[in-house]
Amino acid sequence: MTDEEPLPTAEQVTAASGGEGTHPGEPHAGSAAGRLNWLRAGVLGADDGIVSVAGIVLGVAGATASRGVIFTAGLAGLVAGAVSMSLGEYVSVSSQRDSESALLAQERRELAQTPEEELAELTALYEAKGLTAATARTVAEELTAHDAFAAHADAELHISPDDLANPVEAAAASALSFTLGALLPLLAILLPPAAWRVPVTFLAVLAALALTGTVSARIGGSNARRAVLRVLIGGAAGLALTYGIGHLFGTAVS
Ligand SMILES: [Zn+2]
Repeated sequence: MTDEEPLPTAEQVTAASGGEGTHPGEPHAGSAAGRLNWLRAGVLGADDGIVSVAGIVLGVAGATASRGVIFTAGLAGLVAGAVSMSLGEYVSVSSQRDSESALLAQERRELAQTPEEELAELTALYEAKGLTAATARTVAEELTAHDAFAAHADAELHISPDDLANPVEAAAASALSFTLGALLPLLAILLPPAAWRVPVTFLAVLAALALTGTVSARIGGSNARRAVLRVLIGGAAGLALTYGIGHLFGTAVS
């Protein structure tokens, strides 16, 4: 009996039902994963803002020295990008939420109309996870007695009904992160004297990309140096290309 798994303490059960772990540093279903997802989305949005507005202001700066024109183009890019990002996010999160709500409503109907079949279904799900038929039946019966709807939402649909994504929140967050990213190249090209504009923006953008690349690599648990190198080479090539095209066409057209 010595090598038997210890039963969870009352403390652990309480913590787990709130989505927390009792072992610090161990990712648990609830808050930690959620926060990481938000951080990842924020970093992606900021990267988008940095790269697209840097491309616009450098492209325009390649064609004209007018600070007013550069500012107008950069601001238009910032607003257009923030609007398009948040609209896209709103639409995608809304339709995900709609389909999750429809699945949950259907589950509620099935539980009301065919409870016996639903119990058999839940039993089969736990058997498929590796429990014996008898244990699976006991687990399914106890979960059904406690909260049948929550049990099916979790085991069958992998949805937490109280925690559906909020489309407005997601849209606002992506607009905000895009705007924060976009402000960096906008300020970097407007603040320095004309002769320093382009090199300062190049360096500021590459430094910011290195930072966001490091954060993403940390979140994903991958090699930060390789991620940063990739993003720096890609970023430098992209910025040089937009500046070059702006310079070429600006001179040719004016
Ligand atoms: Zn079901």
